[in-house]
Parts: sequence; C-alpha cells; structure tokens
Amino acid sequence: MNQEFIKELADIVGESNVYSDEVMARHITFRVGGKTKYMVDITGEEELKKVILLMKNYPDIPYYVIGNGSNMLFTDDGYDGLIIKISNKMADVDIHDLRIVAKAGAMLSRVAKLAYEEGLSGMERLSGIPGTIGGAVAMNAGAYGAEIKDIIVCAKVLDRETGEVFVLEKDELYLSYRHSVIMEKSYIVIEVILELDHGKHEDIKEEMDRCTCLRKEKQPIEYPSAGSTFKRPEGYFAGKLVQDAGLAGYTVGGACVSEKHCGFVINKGNATAKDVLDVIEHCQKEVKNKFGVDLEPEVRILTKIT
Ligand SMILES: Cc1cc2nc3c(=O)[nH]c(=O)nc-3n(C[C@H](O)[C@H](O)[C@H](O)COP(=O)(O)OP(=O)(O)OC[C@H]3O[C@@H](n4cnc5c(N)ncnc54)[C@H](O)[C@@H]3O)c2cc1C
Repeated sequence: MNQEFIKELADIVGESNVYSDEVMARHITFRVGGKTKYMVDITGEEELKKVILLMKNYPDIPYYVIGNGSNMLFTDDGYDGLIIKISNKMADVDIHDLRIVAKAGAMLSRVAKLAYEEGLSGMERLSGIPGTIGGAVAMNAGAYGAEIKDIIVCAKVLDRETGEVFVLEKDELYLSYRHSVIMEKSYIVIEVILELDHGKHEDIKEEMDRCTCLRKEKQPIEYPSAGSTFKRPEGYFAGKLVQDAGLAGYTVGGACVSEKHCGFVINKGNATAKDVLDVIEHCQKEVKNKFGVDLEPEVRILTKIT
C-alpha cells in the first residue's frame, strides 16, 4: 500500500472518500469480485481533475472510472490499481426550460424523475436503467427503442491523456449501439446536457410505469446482475440464441443463465466472479458451436492488471 499516494488522494477529496483494499462486490450490481487496491469517491469536477493530474505522478498505478457499476464485473483477484468512482457525490442536476444539465454521477432514474416533475418528456424509457448519466453516455445506454443518443445535446469531458477539459457535441460523441467515443478514447464524462420536450404529466408517468412493468415481468431484476450480459449480435437476439442453445438455467456455482430472460447471467446468491465468467464462456462456446454466432459481452470485465 502506498501511504503517500493515499495521503495525496485524501488531500484532494477528503479522507472519508478514499478507500484501500475495498471489496468491489459492494460497488457493482453483480455483487461479485475481489478487492481494489485503492478507490476514490469523486466529489466534484475540480477534484476529478486533480486526481487525474495526480495520476501522472504515479505512472505505475493503473486507474479505471466507474459510475454505478451496473455494467461491470471485477475478477475475484481484484484490481491492482485505483478505481475512480463518479456517482452520487458528483450528481447535481439543473433544469432550464427544456434543458437538463446533469453531473456525470446523477442516476438516470433520478434525472428521469426530475424531468417528470418538470413536465419534460424523453427520458421515460431510460428511467429504469440502473446507471449514472456518465455511464449511460459512455455506453450509449438504451431501452425500449430509446437511447441516450436521442436526447443528448453535448457532454463535457476530461481527456485523461492531456488533462484537458472540453465539450463534445452530440455528433462528436459518435454514439452507436453500446458504443461512444468516450470508450474509444478513454475520456471521462464530467457533465451532460440533455434536451427534452414538453409533455403531459400523466402521459410521462404512464410511459414510465409501462416500462417498469415490462422490466419486472420480463427481466430477473430480483437478482444481482449487470443487465444484458451480451451485446445484440447483428441480426439476432443474444437471449434467444442462449435459450435456443438449451442453456436456460445453466449453472456454475452461484451463477446461472436466468430462466426468466436468457440474456441475463444472474448471481443467485453466493456467486464468485469466476462462476459468472464460466457461465459467460460456456454460453459463448455453445452458441458459437450451434449457430456460428459470436457473443460479445456487453458487461465490462476488469481483471487485476487490466
Ligand atoms: C438490472 C439491470 C438492467 C439494465 N438494463 C439496461 C438497459 O435497459 N439498457 C442499457 O443500455 N443498459 C442496461 N443495463 C446496464 C447498465 O445499467 C448501463 O450500461 C449503464 O449505462 C451503466 O452505467 P453505470 O453508471 O452503472 O456505469 P458502470 O457500470 O459503472 O460503467 C460502465 C462503463 O462506463 C464507463 N463509465 C462510467 N462512468 C463514466 C464516466 N463518468 N465517464 C466515462 N466513462 C464512464 C466505465 O468506465 C465502464 O466502461 C442494466 C443493468 C442492470 C443491472
């Protein structure tokens, strides 16, 4: 443990926001995974910039940004670096007319609720995605035919290479299916501006409730997971391929393919990350053998030395 490094982090974000040997299962929705050597909970834009600048002095310590950890998997041997968590401590949301300015750590559900209260429509279908707005832009999150791409105006980002902060307009974000320039260039999202439409409160609520019901009915949200485990292969649905390969309920240790929705690998209670990874690998192998289709994980997998 590098005590000097820990002290420098604490000087930036305060002692209570710095963790060492933190169990990552506590910070990701899959509830699996080992310890990260260091973790910092980011409290604001200036603090984020300072932490990134600090990392230049520690080139041997790798770092990785997470939001709510709802699309993440850490291996059981943990992560030998710094996890920079941007979530509820950097989550202010302001609304001006049709525009919403949200810090990266704001949860989609909260932004959607505030939009509803203001009579703004456009976030209803995204409201049930359990991630931050920063993570949603990085992944171009989407649900029920809507994507972040449909409502985003621009994002303020930090380039981790140069330390520069700049604004990327919608077209410059290159948002496509679960992909963005943020991922390609390892930019860090600081703030996002969305533009919605005026809507009637009752219509907005009805659409949000409809999507919530669909999720409860079709998805195993009663178990820890990272949502859809695999990306949708062109021309197919991942869940259907897994189901047709006869893998519904396929289990390794505490992890299994959900019988409710075969596109979800779930943690039935005491899964290890290895159990989850074994289920993923088996699905990939069987689907490739039976249908010749490659399943690419949508969930981001972080190993000890990524
Ligand atoms: C039950 C369940 C249902 C889900 N349903 C959906 C769905 O319908 N549609 C969908 O698209 N997804 C869904 N997901 C997956 C997940 O919620 C989304 O991908 C979400 O956008 C991830 O946000 P996050 O804050 O949790 O990001 P994390 O999981 O913490 O990180 C995901 C990726 O984003 C990057 N990232 C996070 N924050 C930032 C930032 N500030 N700047 C730069 N990069 C960042 C990380 O480095 C990582 O690569 C679901 C997950 C669960 C558990």
